[in-house]
Amino acid sequence: SAIRATAARAFATKFVAPPMTYIAGEEMSWYTMKIICEKWVDPFVDTSKWEYFDLSCKSRDQTDDKVLHDAVASGKRLGAIFKEPTITPTTEQVKEFGLKKPFGSPNGAMRRGWNGITISRDTIHIPGIKLGFENPVFFERHAVGGEYGASWKGVGKGKVLTTFWPENEKEKPTIVDGRVLHDDESAVVVYDNPLDNVEDLARIFFDRCLEAKIVPYVVTKKTVFKWQEGFWQKMKKVFDAEYKDAYLKAGLLDKTGGELVHLISDAATMQIIRWTGGGFGMACHNYDGDMLTDEVAQVHRSPGFITSNLVGKNEDGSLIKEFEASHGTVADLWHMHLRGEETSMNPLGMVVALLGAMDHAAALNPATQAEVTKFTVSVREAVYEAFRTGKGTRDLTGPQGLTTEQFVDWVADNLAK
Ligand code: NAD
Repeated sequence: SAIRATAARAFATKFVAPPMTYIAGEEMSWYTMKIICEKWVDPFVDTSKWEYFDLSCKSRDQTDDKVLHDAVASGKRLGAIFKEPTITPTTEQVKEFGLKKPFGSPNGAMRRGWNGITISRDTIHIPGIKLGFENPVFFERHAVGGEYGASWKGVGKGKVLTTFWPENEKEKPTIVDGRVLHDDESAVVVYDNPLDNVEDLARIFFDRCLEAKIVPYVVTKKTVFKWQEGFWQKMKKVFDAEYKDAYLKAGLLDKTGGELVHLISDAATMQIIRWTGGGFGMACHNYDGDMLTDEVAQVHRSPGFITSNLVGKNEDGSLIKEFEASHGTVADLWHMHLRGEETSMNPLGMVVALLGAMDHAAALNPATQAEVTKFTVSVREAVYEAFRTGKGTRDLTGPQGLTTEQFVDWVADNLAK
């Protein structure tokens, strides 16, 4: 490869990494990041400005969830966050860990606290290795609204009336819906879809696609779900007013008739399987984004090769970015590790997230940006080189691949050369 992993030669002394929020989680993903930080980061980087939060169930329990509040406040202040996977305890785990209560998923608190706009999910590509898609696929999943915030009740025969009461009490209430239920059993569901931040999502998406030379699509089911028209209209308005000319100049609308194209979500589901050349991006509602990005992950071999970054916005307009892997805590390998058996955890998704957070922290706070970039490029390259030379983890390389610890050591040795 053209770029060698030369962290040691590049850094005779440690450089000070700009402040960022580091959220630690649990189980195998926690253990793997612990040894990665010890062997890849600590020898080269002074991380004393990182703010560290332990979001394990035990720590949330001991602090009555103050640690989650503090982590959200830190992320809002610093604007760059790395998060390891965390456990949202099941009823059994509440008993097993002896927790005071079933702590909820921290993600909702983070999306609210950081004014979440979008969850950006992109395919990760290792130069020289063919995964699923040849070129990058970008996703923008609206971070708010839809089914996730729904209220519901199981009810019997009767009538349902949904009324909107304007904040301004001088305005009259409006009836949103009135219906008669004939079944003995029905689920009545209410949710809303906030639209104010769709323009922000549009700019994040169209900037990213333009820079990476990717053809953008907007995906909804607005033909049948008429209420989804607003999302498309807002996306198109921003595109036509602010981006169309640049996209035309870049030749990115050649295949779409010179216009931004809308895809119905069921058609998008099929195209994801057919368009294995990649080079496309899709922006969509919250639930569609959840489903479609899992499909992308399957075509691209594994969720380990997909990024997951939450983008929010501070009051001053600056972007808050949280970087994480899309997988969980990898509990099964953790139990093998505890039994003293060999494991082979692929850390790529988490490492790409950590390096992304460091790069974003440096963009916000550029005093040591040159050193940060040199470091993140070196580490990324060393990890790619491991996979390229057959020294990958077993999910990609097969049974002759390295164990979790051997992989971390191989990259550490390469960085130290
Ligand atoms: P998981 O993603 O941890 O694991 C699913 C399967 O894929 C397992 O067999 C695992 O061994 C394998 N796998 C996943 N990532 C891998 C990697 N990088 N290298 C090698 N193998 C890998 O999902 P799960 O088992 O359903 O969940 C475990 C825990 O993670 C649960 O407690 C869940 O609540 C939590 N979780 C957290 C997040 C998050 O914090 N973002 C997301 C999903 C799940």
